[in-house]
Amino acid sequence: MDVIVIGGGIAGIATACQLHAAGHRVCVIERHATVAQGATYGQGGALLPSPLDVWFGPTFMASSRSKQSGMVVKTGFDSAARDFIKQLAALRDPEAFAAQYAHLQPLVDLSRRVLADIESRLELDFEQRRGMLHVFRQPRELEDAQPAIDLLKGCGVPYRLLTPEECVAVEPSVPDYPEFAGGVLLPEERTANCPLFTKQLKQVLEDDGVQFRMHRSVASVRLDGARAAVELADPSEGKKRRAEVELITADAIVVAAGTGTPGLIGGIRSASSLFPLRVHTLTAPVAYEERVPHLTVVDTIKRITMTRVNQRLRVGGAGVFQSASKADKPLDATLARRALDLLGQGTHDWIPGAARVSAARAWDGLRLITADGLPVVGATRHPRLFVNAAHGPAGWGLACGSAKVIADLVSGVTPDIPASALAAMSIERF
Ligand SMILES: Cc1cc2nc3c(=O)[nH]c(=O)nc-3n(C[C@H](O)[C@H](O)[C@H](O)COP(=O)(O)OP(=O)(O)OC[C@H]3O[C@@H](n4cnc5c(N)ncnc54)[C@H](O)[C@@H]3O)c2cc1C
Repeated sequence: MDVIVIGGGIAGIATACQLHAAGHRVCVIERHATVAQGATYGQGGALLPSPLDVWFGPTFMASSRSKQSGMVVKTGFDSAARDFIKQLAALRDPEAFAAQYAHLQPLVDLSRRVLADIESRLELDFEQRRGMLHVFRQPRELEDAQPAIDLLKGCGVPYRLLTPEECVAVEPSVPDYPEFAGGVLLPEERTANCPLFTKQLKQVLEDDGVQFRMHRSVASVRLDGARAAVELADPSEGKKRRAEVELITADAIVVAAGTGTPGLIGGIRSASSLFPLRVHTLTAPVAYEERVPHLTVVDTIKRITMTRVNQRLRVGGAGVFQSASKADKPLDATLARRALDLLGQGTHDWIPGAARVSAARAWDGLRLITADGLPVVGATRHPRLFVNAAHGPAGWGLACGSAKVIADLVSGVTPDIPASALAAMSIERF
């Protein structure tokens, strides 16, 4: 079949990879001049999510104060944004969290298998590192995280619960003062460079005959005929006059356009179900080599991830919840400062002296998240339209598994995840 993939982020490139492997002719359309320029560019490094670092559950935004939660909330009177946060808060209940995570786990497992397959076939080097240490300041925070820690066992993720002394022993860059409550070591979980992986995969696919239409923007998806079509525009010109519009037809279309996805698929009834969240990274040069962590250190409560990437440290997190209508505009300078201060403080708290934060390069980008914490993956009401988006904070690894789900659905094969998980991730829920 001829399949068009809209979006050149990790979701689009991973989808193209699986579709191509399934024998389809694939064309990827991306509005930027190259791939990995959206949320994929800012990715913090963690490959696959665990129950401890998904952005829902018992510890996520448990405090309304940004210094404690690691998130900046400035929704004002926007009722959709407030409703979105309320829905996420409902997932702090341990039972609701476990039930929701159970839908995600099959996709995590599938993603692990798909990634292993890609790595063994292509032998790519994308700066992989093994080992993540989740740290907790207060005993109460560690207690709150217990439902997530319990799930680690159920998911078969190797882990060790560590005292503060044991944390310092496995990762000497973490200071033993001021006191902290302890940590959880995930020795097998990995971090790496997602934009690099995306670009490498794109190169392999291009060499293998996958078509890439870069610097072309999809103005709309047309589903009225026997074949599906997309209407293309030059991103710098906006929508062209009708006579000048370029149409490309295909047997199927996969929308993997990150925050551009809702506008292309349409028909979403609940305005407060999908949210473009602005997230930040600081990329700082190494300050003192002996203070740089060899494990990735995660402040679990604040969802701040500190990863070594060669001679740099990448610190990611600090989501800013504000009205979705402000998503297209640059972030207010005061809010941006608050977000970056959170990342700087996290670095200072957990790996002091490791990074030259004053010389850090700041980046922020939008990632699409859902109110129920699950991505939007699968078929739509129209048999030729599929979606692979809204993976939230865990888009890298998950995108690879969901790409396989999409390739199976396009090929008429039953995906290797339970039907209940597929239904829970369907766009129809919104
Ligand atoms: C700061 C930060 C830290 C993160 N940390 C992690 C982490 O540690 N681990 C993890 O797994 N995930 C992390 N994430 C999330 C992860 O980066 C995203 O989930 C993932 O990159 C999303 O990939 P995507 O392809 O869906 O979206 P994107 O990367 O945004 O790609 C979508 C692409 O579609 C293109 N597009 C949109 N509309 C159109 C159109 N109309 N026509 C043509 N092209 C279009 C865009 O230009 C873009 O290139 C982080 C995200 C951020 C921002």
